[in-house]
Amino acid sequence: MRLEKCYFCGGTVYPGHGIMFVRNDSKIFRFCRSKCHTHFKMKHNPRKTKWTKAFRKLAGKEMTVDKTFDFEKKRNRPVKYDRDLVSATIKVMKRLDVIRERRKRAFYKNRMQGVRAREKMMQLKEIDQHIDIIRAPSALLKMKAKILENKNKIQSMETELGPLNPKPIKKSKPTASE
Ligand SMILES: [Zn+2]
Repeated sequence: MRLEKCYFCGGTVYPGHGIMFVRNDSKIFRFCRSKCHTHFKMKHNPRKTKWTKAFRKLAGKEMTVDKTFDFEKKRNRPVKYDRDLVSATIKVMKRLDVIRERRKRAFYKNRMQGVRAREKMMQLKEIDQHIDIIRAPSALLKMKAKILENKNKIQSMETELGPLNPKPIKKSKPTASE
């Protein structure tokens, strides 16, 4: 039994599930569900579709370089059946899952480090820039102390995190229109 990967999204295709398409040059494409098959029929590029593994890997959102992936590589040399080998393989599969899960979590944690703080910094900055939308000018005087406090906070955060990215995170795009 072999668990195949979906050609479009990269998800697992379990036996008896999904669709297999054999092109007339005998290349095999497997799809986990009709959604992926439809995208393929429409000639969409999985590397340009945000929800696929291919895109996520390319965008650095997924763990790509890891020793545990080498175990899953397809080998062309046939292996003779060996009871001990099979039992050892099954044991290793479970252990491998645990290790990979742990590494994935570590990768995610690393990737998301500082994102919360950066978002907060952007929001503080936005409030600072559009303060007249929130408060009437007469009430601004009272707010001045608060603004100063905010500025100090931003400065201290900036020194901590370094300058902002040239591309700001989507969430913190200025929504207030002038
Ligand atoms: Zn799929």
